[in-house]
Amino acid sequence: MKWALPIGRPFGIRVEIHATFLLILLYIGWRGWGLGGPTTALWAMLLVALLFVCVILHELGHSVMAMRFGVQVRYIVLFPIGGVAAMSEIPEKPIREFLIAVAGPLVNVVIVLLLRPITGSFFPDPGIEVFPYDVPSLIEKLQLANAILVIFNLLPAFPMDGGRILRSLLAIPLSYEWATQIAVWGGQAVAIGFVLLGLRWNPFLVLIGGFVFFGALSENRLVRTRARFRGVRAADLMSGPGAVLGPEQPLSDCMRLLADRRQADFLVLAEGRLAGILERDRWMRAVEVRGADAPVSTAMRRSFVCFRPITEMSTAWKDMLTMDQKLFPVMEGDELMGRVTQEDIVRFLARSRGPEPVFHGWSSASPSRTTQQSRWSIDLG
Ligand SMILES: [Zn+2]
Repeated sequence: MKWALPIGRPFGIRVEIHATFLLILLYIGWRGWGLGGPTTALWAMLLVALLFVCVILHELGHSVMAMRFGVQVRYIVLFPIGGVAAMSEIPEKPIREFLIAVAGPLVNVVIVLLLRPITGSFFPDPGIEVFPYDVPSLIEKLQLANAILVIFNLLPAFPMDGGRILRSLLAIPLSYEWATQIAVWGGQAVAIGFVLLGLRWNPFLVLIGGFVFFGALSENRLVRTRARFRGVRAADLMSGPGAVLGPEQPLSDCMRLLADRRQADFLVLAEGRLAGILERDRWMRAVEVRGADAPVSTAMRRSFVCFRPITEMSTAWKDMLTMDQKLFPVMEGDELMGRVTQEDIVRFLARSRGPEPVFHGWSSASPSRTTQQSRWSIDLG
């Protein structure tokens, strides 16, 4: 991620600190300096640094649990408003989402319990001092902050941890779409509460409220779109191969076919077998660089993703829209069956109306895995 400094790779996960986080550290130091000089500034910065170590541990809690279910965790970034763990997907199986969501706050519970023998309490008295001034007060404030983190994260504000726990519990009796919808309404209500409280007391709450509100909205859209692809397979969306090219044909043939047949992306066949694909961007660039007489083989893509007729679009559609590849051959073994393009996906979404969320008793018809590129949670106010 841009503007982020890598600090380590625990469990193989890249952990980064966003540059804006360092500004917060300096700001806290400056506040400490104003209250009690350089010593207070150092204690204050030490507290914030330790607290953010706890946030990283919290994110690692989510991440390690997610990895147990085969989810890839790309990175963890520390922002001034909290940590984010970027996961390749969020399992639709309620029990898995529940365990992943619970694992983060559980780490902070463990920290509170570990510090209990030192401080003699689970929830130490905040006292009048804002910042610590010796080791015992540092430990007390750290424990208190962890206790507050647990409570804050367990608020039912989807997509924060508490909201995910709520959705996973709702998804047991309800459909996944309905469970998400209800969790989103709850999340947005809490987000508006954050903004109102934040305007009065703390601008950070306004930021978190905004993050929760729009995070809930975009995740709801993803879940609904995916639901529209449920049961749809590549064979349902594919069209015939269209005009195909040979590797030796000149690139000018692409221009001719675009003019004559309004076809912009091509499958390339050599001796009857699929040898490559050539999309509009690629051949146009190649014509500019190498000229229209250069052969198709110099511009075509040789490594690409293929679908099978039974490929489920509920898992493939998002990759299709985010990948550089625009044309996807559909193959059954060695046999070319047809092609699916990004435009086919967009057209499908335009003409299909999403199913209304339905109550379907205690059974779950949801697939267990998704390709949703979801970010996990914010964890610190
Ligand atoms: Zn969390």
